Amino acid sequence: MATRSRSPLHILKFGGTSLGAAERIAWAARHAAGSARRRRTLVVVSAMAGITNLLLRSARAAATGDRSWRKAADEIRARHRKAAESLLSAAERKRFERRLEAAIGIFEKSCEEFEAEGKTTAQGLDGVASLGEVISAALFAAALREAGARGRAVDAAELIVTDDRFGDANVLVEATQKRLRERISPLVSRGVVPVMTGFRGATIESAPTTLGRGSSDYTATLVGSLLCAAEITIWTDVDGVMTADPQIVPGARVISRLTYAEAIELAFFGAKVIHWKAILPAMQSGTPLRVRNSFRPSEAGTRIVSGANGRAAVAAVTAVPRAHLVTLRGDGALRPVELATRALGWLDGAGAHPLLVVQSSPENSLAFALAHEEATLAGFCHPISGQQASDGFVVHSSEEVGLVTAIGARIGHPAGAAARIFTALERCRVSVLAAATGASGQRVALAVPQNSLSAAVRAIHREFRL
Ligand code: ADP
Ligand code: ASP
Ligand code: MG
Repeated sequence: MATRSRSPLHILKFGGTSLGAAERIAWAARHAAGSARRRRTLVVVSAMAGITNLLLRSARAAATGDRSWRKAADEIRARHRKAAESLLSAAERKRFERRLEAAIGIFEKSCEEFEAEGKTTAQGLDGVASLGEVISAALFAAALREAGARGRAVDAAELIVTDDRFGDANVLVEATQKRLRERISPLVSRGVVPVMTGFRGATIESAPTTLGRGSSDYTATLVGSLLCAAEITIWTDVDGVMTADPQIVPGARVISRLTYAEAIELAFFGAKVIHWKAILPAMQSGTPLRVRNSFRPSEAGTRIVSGANGRAAVAAVTAVPRAHLVTLRGDGALRPVELATRALGWLDGAGAHPLLVVQSSPENSLAFALAHEEATLAGFCHPISGQQASDGFVVHSSEEVGLVTAIGARIGHPAGAAARIFTALERCRVSVLAAATGASGQRVALAVPQNSLSAAVRAIHREFRL
């Protein structure tokens, strides 16, 4: 025990596909139990694949009088029960099913309220969005106990303190660190393996919040950094961070080593394999991050570390398949810089993170690209024209586009990488609707017609022989 209390802490995060079925959970639990025999171990889990979408979709539908939430509750119950049946002994199963029913009860009650009120609120949706994580933490902790480790489900809502920006909450780091040190450090030192819900936090008044879609990765790196972990491993369904999404480019290769700076660019511009927010805490604390495939654990995966890379100009190509290119025009009274100030302030208020911004002073216009989910929240989901958005400017157009981004630490040098990108796109007849290079000199981002996106990704991938 004395040895374990001083052993390095390892954080293991399992994503939705790595927990998608009983045999996947069994492998993950065996792996985590093996880790716990050698060193202090903490697990962060996502919901089973598809559960978060199901919860949110049916909760939103409830507000329109659609009762599909009843079927959703049955489906959630059936999927988890089926997994529990093959994973757990009778006693563990009984205990787990009590927790499953408690979570489903919260979901059903919330949906009844949405139905009665005819609307949802961001706060109300956050109350149901992360219930999949609550259920999978209970299931995983039980599976760990079956595998001989001291698994204990831990609700991050009691540990991760956030502001009240529901749907995309900001973590209050000091308060969170205090709670983690007080409540989690003693557990791991005693050999307990906490199984923490990803994605989830709560305000100081205990209202549940979420940290943004796909943010269980961030929970893992945040907790790892605040508890001074030696390493954080993100277990997912691909061999690591690759030169492109393998679903678009079947010949994409695994990048064995990435810098934190490159990883942020990749993640922000569409490499869904890791959430961009997840890189920041690891970068600040210098904690090495690994991305590995739980379906092929023999592969070494990607290591994300500090330092520089001497690689070629373009390291990877990313894609955001559904984005909106929105153009605003200022009226005569508004100076271009005022237009930019108001528009960016307005986007910030809507919780949007523009992927690309292009300003044109002579026309007094500003164009920006937003991922579809954020465009929806900011009210840009449908093409609109001439709509008054705020005093002094109008939304001139909003069209659905795809965003392709070429990323590399040395993309600005030698000059010519950008020219090669444009030539490669021209060769396969992809028109470029807007383009921007990053001030960091690490990227070229281009908005292209949605139906040309895959061709654009493949053309750039081929051009730089990635
Ligand atoms: P998890 O459920 O484990 O969090 P995600 O679905 O969030 O997994 O992320 C993994 C997916 O990210 C992969 O299946 C892959 O299709 C996609 N992806 C997009 N870009 C990349 C990339 N550059 N490298 C690897 N995977 C990528
Ligand atoms: N389950 C959450 C989502 O689907 C968080 C995650 O998977 O990281 O967004
Ligand atoms: Mg993910």
